[in-house]
Amino acid sequence: MPKFDLKTIIFMSMLLTFMLSMLLAITRSHHKEVHGPGYWAVGNLVIGLGMVLVLIQLDAPKMLFLPGMALIGAGLSLYINGIQSFVGKAPNHRIPVTVFFLLIVIDAYFMLMRHDIRTTVILGAIIFVAIYLYCARLTFSRDEGVVGNLYWITSSLYLLMAILMLGRAAYASQVSVEVFDSFAAWPFNAYTFMFGAVSQFFISSLFVLMLSYKLNQNLESIATVDELTSVLNRRGLEDAALKMQDICKRINLSMAVLLIDIDHFKKVNDQYGHLSGDDVLRHLAKVIASVLRSSDVLGRYGGEEFCVFLPNTTESDAIGLAERIREAIETSPLKMNSTNIKTTVSIGVADSVRAGYDFKGLVATADSAMYGAKNGGRNRVMSYTQITRDTKLRA
Ligand code: GH3
Ligand code: MG
Ligand code: MG
Repeated sequence: MPKFDLKTIIFMSMLLTFMLSMLLAITRSHHKEVHGPGYWAVGNLVIGLGMVLVLIQLDAPKMLFLPGMALIGAGLSLYINGIQSFVGKAPNHRIPVTVFFLLIVIDAYFMLMRHDIRTTVILGAIIFVAIYLYCARLTFSRDEGVVGNLYWITSSLYLLMAILMLGRAAYASQVSVEVFDSFAAWPFNAYTFMFGAVSQFFISSLFVLMLSYKLNQNLESIATVDELTSVLNRRGLEDAALKMQDICKRINLSMAVLLIDIDHFKKVNDQYGHLSGDDVLRHLAKVIASVLRSSDVLGRYGGEEFCVFLPNTTESDAIGLAERIREAIETSPLKMNSTNIKTTVSIGVADSVRAGYDFKGLVATADSAMYGAKNGGRNRVMSYTQITRDTKLRA
């Protein structure tokens, strides 16, 4: 095993930690909407300052290691706060404060008053075991996919650090007491700092990676989800319909589309106000979704028009579903204070057998069927076939 110079290692770790702090501070300044990086930046700064203290005191006769270790402990606990807010929990600020004072008290009592470095080292290491185990537990996740894997690696790294610290405590309890006379030369110190700093670097990088995935997901959802009703917007609808179309075409299944337009919605706005109109839209999105299967795709096509794409469905099946949606909406008014806002819808139905698989063609065909339903008196379902048959009959 090469001999590591403790001072050099601490110095390098300190530089690394300050660099990480800067990187995270920049991340934080760019993405104020994501919580966590701010705590990590401050945490690394505090850890770096702790390392400065450790470095300064390394040659001191009494070796006041612990004020520095107390800051490092507090910095790691700030990481806990960062993880807590990153995973959507409320950060517990008492943790860093408690860790800091606990380490200071241990230092003051065991090292300064009782001159017992061994107990000081063991207790300090045990506190670090607790911090690392807690971090491992917080980052342990059952999530699938890339983010799940990143969490899993982070959690394992924390667990490894907890084991290292446990080893430090166990080793300190075994070695002869002379080791503590020249404590700075104890090789385990160098290993602890080196592995601590390296794992800290990896963990911070993993968090930055997770952050970027999270931001990408947010952006994707902003681009494809309707803000008001939380169903897909027109772009999301088009993407989903294209995917469905690909699959249905390949295995020769039909797909159907429903275009749902609220009847006399202008009157709802006029009578109850625009904000209540918005509530009605949210309510109807929920009512429609409650009737659908998980493979069906619901989106808001325009102002007060919803659109549903149904895989492996023919026009006659789709008419049945449309009828259930129409009925569900008619019978579930939105309850507002003392009034019930009752709405009805007109639904146009088309399928790929008659209109082809093309998104625009399907929607345009369902749209003309929907206008047929409006002309027929509203609060009804009309299919493309019915419209063309009626037109032929009239002709
Ligand atoms: P019908 O469809 O039965 O012919 O009558 P309508 O009154 O619904 O007519 P139309 O489809 O032309 O009117 C759409 C109205 O929907 C006009 C607009 O004020 C309202 N609207 C569109 N988007 C929103 C929205 O996001 N929120 C609210 N509150 N109203 C909206
Ligand atoms: Mg309309
Ligand atoms: Mg309308």
